[in-house]
Amino acid sequence: MSRHLTDAIIYKLHRYSDSSAVARAFTADFGKIKLFVPKAFSKKGGLLTCFPGILDFQMKESSDLCRFYAFTQKPEFYRFIDSHEIMIRLHFIFEVMDALYQEREKDGYLMKLITKIDNTNFRKAASFTVRHIFEKNGVLPDFNVCAGCGDENSTEGYVLGGEYFCGKCRHSGIRVSGSVMLFMKSAQVSELMKNLIINRENETEIISFFAQFYKSLYGKELKSASTLSFLL
Ligand SMILES: [Zn+2]
Repeated sequence: MSRHLTDAIIYKLHRYSDSSAVARAFTADFGKIKLFVPKAFSKKGGLLTCFPGILDFQMKESSDLCRFYAFTQKPEFYRFIDSHEIMIRLHFIFEVMDALYQEREKDGYLMKLITKIDNTNFRKAASFTVRHIFEKNGVLPDFNVCAGCGDENSTEGYVLGGEYFCGKCRHSGIRVSGSVMLFMKSAQVSELMKNLIINRENETEIISFFAQFYKSLYGKELKSASTLSFLL
């Protein structure tokens, strides 16, 4: 057994009894973990989800349920819980992360991406973060080359069976619109990404692409995607 301090975000909290809960946290050093939290709900306020902070916990060798000691919120992230624009996107990010990542699969870069989201960049930062999760899991198609004809210059097309095809080679599948394509290509080059502007309409297309792509891979709907597309 070992006790640790790590940057973490609790993204799910299930009430277990009157005061205790089982929490799911994403941590910088240990990926996603499950925690038993003895006093999660108190009169003083208790634990908040989607609020970055420092988690003090103990890992057990005999069980994947870790023991919770304390969580110290980082005040600069009040911007997360103050903004429903950020909050609805965080729910989407964590649903995708939870579905794609293994228990204790470490990804410090993902933590970094999440903590960079703010009131000025939430559209772009959230899309970039979700793209990273798919890429890290090795399931993101290569949008640079058509899997049918090898064309490297297509600007839109379709994804079918996990591969990208230009509009000349395929006429069905998950549609990759011009703005989805521009986003996918720009995300590979930091200078392009810096200059890319993602408006509400572009973001809706990108989120919808990821939701359909997820469904094609896993046969399940992302619950938060429909909420998100409704609220965007
Ligand atoms: Zn082609």
